[in-house]
Amino acid sequence: MFTDSDDVWGDGTTANPGTAAVDAAYGAQTTWDFYHDNFGRNGIANDGRGSSSRVHYESVQGVPLANANWQDGCFCMSYGDGADGQHPVTSLDIAAHEMTHGVTSATAGLGNSGESPGLNEAISDMMAAAVEFHADNPNDVPDYTMAELDDLHGDGKPIRYMDRPSKAGISSVGYAPLDYWTPQAKGQEPHMVAGVGDHFFYLLAEGSGQKTISGVDYDSPTYDGLPVAGIGLTDAAAVVYRALTVYMTSTTDYAGARTATLQAAADLYGGRSDAYEAVANSWAAVNVGIRYVNHIAAEPLPTEPVAVGQPVSRQITASSSRPGPLTYSAKSLPRGLSINHTTGLITGRPGKAGDYNSVIIITDAARNTRKFSFTWTALASGGHFFVNPTTYVIPKWGVVESPLVVRRKPGNAPNDLKVAIDLDHGFSNAMVIDLIAPDGTVIHVKPWGPWVLTPDLHETYTVDASAVPAVGTWKLRVTDGTPGIFDLDPGHLQRWSLTF
Ligand SMILES: [Zn+2]
Repeated sequence: MFTDSDDVWGDGTTANPGTAAVDAAYGAQTTWDFYHDNFGRNGIANDGRGSSSRVHYESVQGVPLANANWQDGCFCMSYGDGADGQHPVTSLDIAAHEMTHGVTSATAGLGNSGESPGLNEAISDMMAAAVEFHADNPNDVPDYTMAELDDLHGDGKPIRYMDRPSKAGISSVGYAPLDYWTPQAKGQEPHMVAGVGDHFFYLLAEGSGQKTISGVDYDSPTYDGLPVAGIGLTDAAAVVYRALTVYMTSTTDYAGARTATLQAAADLYGGRSDAYEAVANSWAAVNVGIRYVNHIAAEPLPTEPVAVGQPVSRQITASSSRPGPLTYSAKSLPRGLSINHTTGLITGRPGKAGDYNSVIIITDAARNTRKFSFTWTALASGGHFFVNPTTYVIPKWGVVESPLVVRRKPGNAPNDLKVAIDLDHGFSNAMVIDLIAPDGTVIHVKPWGPWVLTPDLHETYTVDASAVPAVGTWKLRVTDGTPGIFDLDPGHLQRWSLTF
């Protein structure tokens, strides 16, 4: 315990051990005040209890701590003296970062698997930046970097940059923080994964592009190259705090964080507010979810090829942040297809092969429009070759069937019917594939195995189908037989064809 007779604590230098103590006390007070003044939170556990801080910390084995940490067990902060034992890591953003781990632990309780640990780190970085701006201390100019005063890596630089996380470069532990979400983020080193959330938060607070804030230069890019308008740090922090304390759980990942922050923004500012759209667009800018343009958000269009004579059913899925229904129209669809103006469902049977310069236009009640132009290919199908190019999701440990209509093919199928299949799955050899003939006969195409993890399957199989008539609706059935020990994402049946 530090005691002092004149109530003047430390002297601003590391020579006086009380300096680290008073810095730690300042960090604890300021973090407490931030949570109290902005959110009415009464301490880390919201129970009015103060936490203690330990400086110049050594473990019971006498090992000096270089960094700082929060521990739920002692409900306390521990601060080390830096890598060289001479520089206590007691700056405000470190204190706020670590104590926010305590808040997260007392609320969402983000856990140890998937993307949750990375999200946990990101939330601590977000609140650390918000605490610095709340304090607005001229001796620690507020910024969107971490540990800029502590020189943790001995290079005089911050350890994290929220406007463009990859700017930190590859650290001594061998990673650079991610600017954008990728499917590989799950299970990676948490501070690397935190880049996604840090970048989201910077964009939500300040927006994309170049700017100078309190004398610090930033330049924040976006995944889709489209600009994002920020809503200000105070509102951004309010959205994250409400999401953290009301909607996030121990297993929340980035997709779940998007949902949680959208719910929080709807609660605070309304589901038709600019803030709500800014939350969605800031996530889209780090490759999490879809974005609003002209107040209309649309899921990726189902633009994979169609085939002549094969029935098509493709749903355009869109929503608006404004009142009233959406309407749908289209130009230059593959001949034989049409769009339902109220539902956005495209149906029909393509009549002619070719590349079509299709345009789909979504319009809201206030006449805002969102327009998508793309080349839509109609494949030749008929004669001896029939193809269904529609992509189907193979449900995890489930079954999917894709139909294929065969017409004008009298008589039975041949004894060397060719079945060509394209699918993607993390363990494609674990897919069991059957062909269902029009009369219901099941013809085995591919058994389970071998036990080799291969990401894709692009194969042509020959089966004896001479016992069944050719004409009618065939189906390809894919059964996901992935062993339960593998936690893989669902795969896709991309296309399949029959050659008679
Ligand atoms: Zn942390």
